[in-house]
Amino acid sequence: MSEPLTEKQKERLRKYIFMGGFMDKSLSLYACRYCDYRVKALSDMPLQDVLWSDGVTHEEYPYSIFPELWYCPKCQRVYRTSKLTELDTIVVGTNINIPEELMPWKDTPRLLEPQLQEYRKILRNQDFGYDVDLEMMVRRRMWQKLNNKYRPNPDKGEFRHAVTLTNEHRELLNDLHPWLYEGNVTKALIKAEALRQLGRFELSLQLLDIIQNEHEPDRIEADWLKVLKAYNNARSTDLVVVGCWDIDY
Ligand SMILES: [Zn+2]
Repeated sequence: MSEPLTEKQKERLRKYIFMGGFMDKSLSLYACRYCDYRVKALSDMPLQDVLWSDGVTHEEYPYSIFPELWYCPKCQRVYRTSKLTELDTIVVGTNINIPEELMPWKDTPRLLEPQLQEYRKILRNQDFGYDVDLEMMVRRRMWQKLNNKYRPNPDKGEFRHAVTLTNEHRELLNDLHPWLYEGNVTKALIKAEALRQLGRFELSLQLLDIIQNEHEPDRIEADWLKVLKAYNNARSTDLVVVGCWDIDY
């Protein structure tokens, strides 16, 4: 089982590490809080950030995001990655071509988000108890993953794509939207999007008015709100690119 690095191992690694400011990457070792199963994660930044109308960012870059949720294959629980136990972190700088024999925790699997199939199993088997928020996160991620099939790719000049709702899709949206707290701008925008995708345009527009009048959306949230309004007014349920930005380090 992978263990935190010793000082000697860290010393041997140091000569391969080149620091490059904001581009520095770090590698971390985590343990499952319930069963001590070990995983590692490399922090990485996407070169481009995209926001879609369902609240997903850079879904196309699966290695560049630290997932919100993870599924422990050993004890078969899903929970927030923020609750993993961090055992060790090393800054590997801009150079990740560390010699194989020195690469820390090389036999330890990488931290990955559950696949749709795993999420389905989780929803059937896991007892969420009073943690309604976690259950809603699972449903939201399932809905967003079902949307992936229709996700327009701005790199190919696509900015909108029609969505065909399956029964599973519709059921997730129906379960999800009543639980999203309207006092939080991001959650409220996701709720407005869920209502729009269900074709409940008037209800979605009412909620967008509340967000605009009673909260203070930041610049990106304001763009997102404008797009949702326009597509609601056009009675469209298309999945839309809200914006894409090149990230300048
Ligand atoms: Zn576990």
